Amino acid sequence: MSPPRPYVGRFAPTPSGYLHFGSLVAALASFLDARAVGGRWLLRMEDLDPPREMPGAQDTILRTLDTYGLHWDGPVERQSTRHAAYAAAVDRLLAQGLAYACRCSRKQLEGQLIYPGTCRDRQHPREDAAIRLRVPDAEYAFFDRVQGRFAQNLARDVGDFIIQRRDGLYAYQLAVVLDDAWQGITDVVRGADLLDSTPRQLYLQALLGLPQPRYLHIPLLLQPDGHKLGKSYRSPPLPPERAPAELLRALRALGQRPPAELEGARPEAMLAWAIAHWQAAAIPHCLGLSEAFVR
Ligand code: GLU
Repeated sequence: MSPPRPYVGRFAPTPSGYLHFGSLVAALASFLDARAVGGRWLLRMEDLDPPREMPGAQDTILRTLDTYGLHWDGPVERQSTRHAAYAAAVDRLLAQGLAYACRCSRKQLEGQLIYPGTCRDRQHPREDAAIRLRVPDAEYAFFDRVQGRFAQNLARDVGDFIIQRRDGLYAYQLAVVLDDAWQGITDVVRGADLLDSTPRQLYLQALLGLPQPRYLHIPLLLQPDGHKLGKSYRSPPLPPERAPAELLRALRALGQRPPAELEGARPEAMLAWAIAHWQAAAIPHCLGLSEAFVR
């Protein structure tokens, strides 16, 4: 057996909005999990979809991470610079017959939760078409460090999914597996909203011969009304002057028990304590409708 690879983690924000409290919790978990074992922590801007990008969001996200003491290693990588790698993978999957061109319009697919496979055997040319990956009627399962075993049958639960949109933009599922492998990521720590994307990513990793990282999906924070705390709320950026208070709140949301003396401490001091005392096993499986962590 080969020796375990040294830990490399990452935070991969999409600049469609500012960093909100939910994404701070995800960033913090991934940072602490890496630093607690002396690992590297990389930053990747998932700027795949320019029309949905919020002007200024990239800079604001980076500035917020910095003021909150979440310093990353190496340069910021941007998915907007990685199109050649994505295109090569799409070409390869098409050439192997593992993907196909799909001409179905949104209207045609209205009301269908799972793609019915209309274009599977139509041999459309790839111009002016989306590219879909053919999925097998097979279960893809993995062991999540917080959520436990998670499995999906790709044909039944997901269906043939898009890896390149008709307008040419590459899909998150494709880009994320290529970039995690390219950056040598050993551990993916992210929000549980991506739990049900993971089996698709495992399948792509298998097809492309890429290593499979370990996964830890942290529970989603819900608003008191049951809604996910997220970008749809157009959350304002996290205020720099509230860094100590927000970090403490985020640590508590992750089941960590920062001592009272840390109240009001500088972010770096707080993070030094958190790295030394990080307990991934204390992360709650589910935060439910807890009001403790929302403003
Ligand atoms: N870019 C994704 C987001 O901001 C995260 C992707 C990932 O961690 O795999 O929700």
